[in-house]
Amino acid sequence: PRPDLDLAALVRTIPDFPKPGISFRDITTLIGDAAGFAESVRRLCDRAAIHRPDLIVAVEARGFLFGAAMATAMGLGLVPVRKAGKLPGMTIGVDYELEYGVDRLELHEGAVLPGHRVVLIDDLLATGGTILATAQLMRSAGAEVAAALFVIDLPDLGGSARLAAAGLACETLIG
Ligand code: 5GP
Repeated sequence: PRPDLDLAALVRTIPDFPKPGISFRDITTLIGDAAGFAESVRRLCDRAAIHRPDLIVAVEARGFLFGAAMATAMGLGLVPVRKAGKLPGMTIGVDYELEYGVDRLELHEGAVLPGHRVVLIDDLLATGGTILATAQLMRSAGAEVAAALFVIDLPDLGGSARLAAAGLACETLIG
């Protein structure tokens, strides 16, 4: 364990990506650093363990990187929530609003079962739209969302406030 390690210093900010005016937080430098990746996963696992989840649910695509490492470390299964049309089996889906237009997230039928306690994981919380849609999917499958965990929060975009208003417990390592 490296409780002193400054994870924020390992995240890069790329200006004007994917569009002019957007500052993109790039986690590839964090996961490319052996100590940084291990320590982020360790801290996420510590927080997830408090909620005693039955499964880890990870959001495409960068959520998979952290969620997969957490699931193996915690001895839990991993459930991917994917963009529309990617999962091969029967799915349930949810449409959610983007800044411009709508998007759709999907879950394999039977991947989570009624009564399962799940922890949601994504790399970054911005407006909260993605994780609220994921939480809605979990509830429509009958699962209980214990918490949502993120590596990075961008509090200025209001996601943490929206999650709090929706009663979804949320924790972040940076921000
Ligand atoms: P939200 O739905 O909270 O507005 O946006 C969060 C989603 O968009 C997450 O799935 C996250 O991966 C992605 N995202 C938005 N902005 C950034 C960013 O600056 N850096 C990274 N790594 N992901 C972002």
